[in-house]
Amino acid sequence: MNIRYNKPYLSGQEIKYISEAVLEGRLSGNQTFTKKCHAFFAQRFGFSHNLLTTSCTDALEMIAILLDIKEGDEVIVPSFTFVSTANPFILRGASIVFADSCPNHPNIDPDNIESLITPRTKAIVLVHYAGVACQMEKFMKIASTHNIAIVEDAAQAIDSKYKDSYLGTFGAMSAFSFHETKNIICGEGGLLVVNDENYIRRSEIIWEKGTNRAAFYRGEINKYGWVDVGSSFLSSDILAAFLFAQLENIDVIQQKRIAIWQRYYDALQPLETIAGIELPVVPSYATKNGHIFYLVCKSEKQRNRLITYLKEKSIHAVFHYLTLHDSPYFKDKHDGRPLPHAERFSQCLVRLPLYVELTPQEQQLVIDSIFDFFNSNK
Ligand SMILES: *Cc1c(COP(=O)(O)O)cnc(C)c1O
Repeated sequence: MNIRYNKPYLSGQEIKYISEAVLEGRLSGNQTFTKKCHAFFAQRFGFSHNLLTTSCTDALEMIAILLDIKEGDEVIVPSFTFVSTANPFILRGASIVFADSCPNHPNIDPDNIESLITPRTKAIVLVHYAGVACQMEKFMKIASTHNIAIVEDAAQAIDSKYKDSYLGTFGAMSAFSFHETKNIICGEGGLLVVNDENYIRRSEIIWEKGTNRAAFYRGEINKYGWVDVGSSFLSSDILAAFLFAQLENIDVIQQKRIAIWQRYYDALQPLETIAGIELPVVPSYATKNGHIFYLVCKSEKQRNRLITYLKEKSIHAVFHYLTLHDSPYFKDKHDGRPLPHAERFSQCLVRLPLYVELTPQEQQLVIDSIFDFFNSNK
């Protein structure tokens, strides 16, 4: 038995919808399936203004343009994240100020943010790690006190909530990912959600290469032209067709992923007492969306030995982000502050196989193997 870390889920309707899009003869962006996806996101999650993009990275690049980020601006970003949380702001010339994780959770710590804010701070980017919400009320309060924009990198957070509201509805703008490693996929794809009305009109223009073509398609103007900067951020209707087949099955996907997550949680809980291993924390204000199940080992050495042990049994468990503040690209630009919690998650966290088709037998093997490891390697 070879147990992969991830296996993309297919609903079975993807090819059918792609052929429908192909036969319709409209393969560019903002066509039939794109509109179906937009309507789905608005109806299900309350994303009243959303635009399908080629990736989450591109949605974040749109956000950086829309916030008018420029040289001299500072943007606060967690260090324990993917490069795409920071790169879009660097591309606009901003300085990145990296923030630490919470002591008990990989998410950015709101209690250590205030000291990082200066008159030049334009935005704070939040990452809801493993689909578990950041402490939104604290961040929204900081943002309004200092007049700073909140951006949600909600790449992993589809279908997750903070209290009663879906993640993605809090920030001035938010970005989701449909990369093949996420819960809902289309190969490469993303979504921009605009919550602050001030950015709605311009978001459509930047999406359509700096033209007002979207308004033209709606019949609001009789010719379209170049009205602003922009790029080609919209994705082909072929990918939207794939994505729509996934969205129609979101309840099945989410139920299965959450059930697998819960089974890991229930079965592995004794590790906390027998080996001092930490399980994921889901605070009472947050939900889980079954995106990632992880353990936090006691040391980097122990974590790496566990990964090797599982690999020998053909089970692929993987570590996650290498902190960005001390990365080869950034270390000379960092102000030298240690970020101990982010570093600990980088060194000690391991993610377990989690995908819709993971069978109960396969999952049991993963669980048994983890216990075997800790019973013989305390
Ligand atoms: C996956 C991911 C991204 C990048 O998404 P793409 O769609 O591949 O651009 C960005 N941020 C986080 C936190 C992610 O997990």
